Amino acid sequence: MVKKRVDGREMNELRPIKIVPSVIERADGSAYLEWGQNKMIVAVYGPKEMLPKHLADSQRGKINFIYRMAPFSVPERKNPKPGRRDIEISKVVGEALSHAVLLEEFPGMVIDVYVQILDSNAGTRVAALTASSVALADAGIPMKDLVTAVAVGKANGNIIADLNKYEEDAEDAVDMAFAMLPGSEEIVLLQADGILSEDEFDKAIKIAKEKCQEVKKLQIEALKSKFKALKE
Ligand code: UDP
Repeated sequence: MVKKRVDGREMNELRPIKIVPSVIERADGSAYLEWGQNKMIVAVYGPKEMLPKHLADSQRGKINFIYRMAPFSVPERKNPKPGRRDIEISKVVGEALSHAVLLEEFPGMVIDVYVQILDSNAGTRVAALTASSVALADAGIPMKDLVTAVAVGKANGNIIADLNKYEEDAEDAVDMAFAMLPGSEEIVLLQADGILSEDEFDKAIKIAKEKCQEVKKLQIEALKSKFKALKE
């Protein structure tokens, strides 16, 4: 078991997080987020009529979530064409957000959420989910709660929060993307690779829940700062 993490963090310490809402004037809602080296922009458009119409659900609205990595956001140039990973992340993150947004208020409509990753070092899907929920709130979209996400897992014999890329590549690595509605602790995303014992899994989930509450405070502070600035 290694005692210290490669970047000097405690086992359950998150990388520094910065969230700035309302960064794109043309969008209905938006956010810029930095999470360690990860940097991203989210833009929300809608709710608007779903086109083509045959994709619309007459009972409820839909979220169209698009996650894309810029070619320069990874060490090896990324092909700008969406790959299987972009499509998978778009699907699972969009579904996670759908648990929070009151979609029944928007039958036949769609909310587009675009995430562009500008720089990355593991954990981009949970960071994207966290930023998107701020951008949706910034757009005034009604939600049950914010969605708050963190990655937890295992590397070098330790159960840790917020794995960086080096830790994700450890021989015993387990990377678990976790998201919940912080009020009810309803889990809306849980993806994991690798193997954890039952005890390790319980410990990881406990850390994930604690860390989500920490991230929620930052989301709320970011949104409050926007409304405070509007009042001044
Ligand atoms: N990554 C990369 N090239 C790619 C895709 C991903 O270098 O084509 C890196 C990127 O830094 C990303 C990390 O691998 O954050 C981990 O990717 P994973 O699929 O585990 O998703 P994430 O942890 O970002 O949610």
